[in-house]
Amino acid sequence: MKAHPSSAVAVTPTVEYAVSQVHIPARDDGTSPELARTAAKLADRLGVRRIWHVNSTATGGGVAELLWSGIARQQALGLPVGWLIADAEPAFFQLTKRIHHGLHGRVDHAFTEHDARLYEVSTTRSAAQLAEFVRPGDLVVLHDPQTVGLAPHLVAGGVKVAWRCHIGTRANVPAVAATWAFLRRYVEAAPRCVFTVADYAPGYLAPGRVTVITPSIDPESPKNRHLSQAECVELLAGIGLLRSPDLATGAPNQGDDPVGYVVQDQPLPEGVPVVTQVSRWDPLKDLAGVLRAFAEGIAPHSPAHLLFAGPDPADIPDDPEGAGVFAQLRALRQALPAEIRRRVHLAVLTLRHQTANALAVNAIQRYSTVVVQKSLEEGFGLTATEAMWKSRPIVASAVGGLLTQLTHGAQGLLVEPDDLTGFADAVSGLLANPVRAAELGAAAHRRCREEFLAERESADYLALYDRMSGN
Ligand code: UDP
Repeated sequence: MKAHPSSAVAVTPTVEYAVSQVHIPARDDGTSPELARTAAKLADRLGVRRIWHVNSTATGGGVAELLWSGIARQQALGLPVGWLIADAEPAFFQLTKRIHHGLHGRVDHAFTEHDARLYEVSTTRSAAQLAEFVRPGDLVVLHDPQTVGLAPHLVAGGVKVAWRCHIGTRANVPAVAATWAFLRRYVEAAPRCVFTVADYAPGYLAPGRVTVITPSIDPESPKNRHLSQAECVELLAGIGLLRSPDLATGAPNQGDDPVGYVVQDQPLPEGVPVVTQVSRWDPLKDLAGVLRAFAEGIAPHSPAHLLFAGPDPADIPDDPEGAGVFAQLRALRQALPAEIRRRVHLAVLTLRHQTANALAVNAIQRYSTVVVQKSLEEGFGLTATEAMWKSRPIVASAVGGLLTQLTHGAQGLLVEPDDLTGFADAVSGLLANPVRAAELGAAAHRRCREEFLAERESADYLALYDRMSGN
């Protein structure tokens, strides 16, 4: 691939921040014959050409989650699909995290010339490195703002490109407009752009170039497959969240290679209701809001405990804020009165052992009495969909993708993100009314089965590839 003619920045590729390929273990799930036929026709049409997905991390967050199962499923359909990771320097990921917050309407500072140069240099370097894998005529799906900068280079090199943006907001605020303006020349270079919600697309994109694909979950993956109550208990005891029957101390029995660690005064008492939020340690997940609502509005009315579970920040290179947000939450917990603090548990789960991590999250979600997702903004909350699949009653914020994932009062409860009292009341109400909670959980499972499973997303991808290959 040639460099994009307008890129004026000289780039010396370094091996330190390289593009690398993720190898996904083969799987052979049953799939619908119709999908298999469509895939066979597409593979035929592609001939020697390949399909690539490119993002910036193989672990942590919803995009990596989607790619692991989505690509494995497409490979099982016989499609020549591969996955590339474009690594970059910490300063680049600090910038792209600001872009991420900007597209959620949450930062107001302008982007500088220096930001523009950094973005251009880093993505130009990644584009040059991609040439080792990608050939003219190949199909490339770029994911999120970290990679849209590759679009002009790839298009100039004869590659068929789509950009899938997993984030966004309906809020029409200056920060969003400024961020879309910053990305404009890259976004416009992609012949096709994919959004989770049509309204997330910037105004400068002609509607004909926009495709909507709703994210999905894989019901057979370790994250979502059925676990018995006994398996959940064993997995939670393995992390130290429950007292292990074998250990009087409650210390986790994890050997030298732990699944994670827990910050708590004591393990969860047996049979106590548990309110859980699973998320990255990110300011937009409003962990402090959840803690406050629990301390002031939930704990006084219920014996429930509160559990935060999230990935070890050290394992997510493209999210530089995690360690700081976790440290703040830990300090807030520490400052609580002892009676409340002993009911708050933080579980930090390593992503180095992917299956163990997924099983731990699965067990935590299934063990929870109520699952919450109190995001201030959320492109699409996969954790909510995962909880829906597990028939959990959910209290989430009435924002972004969460509004399209569940209907208030039908498959869960939605509360305005700044309404802490409303949030606490909604959780308390479900804790006090297990019959209502079970009804919402059952309806959530049905909705998930109908709309949010991986087979539907595979079909959407096949349609996207079909359009891209014709572009
Ligand atoms: N997750 C995980 N391990 C953890 C914590 C979270 O695999 O220790 C997963 C979680 O199950 C979900 C994803 O990370 O699949 C988070 O996706 P979501 O869309 O909720 O939020 P994002 O992180 O993309 O903002």
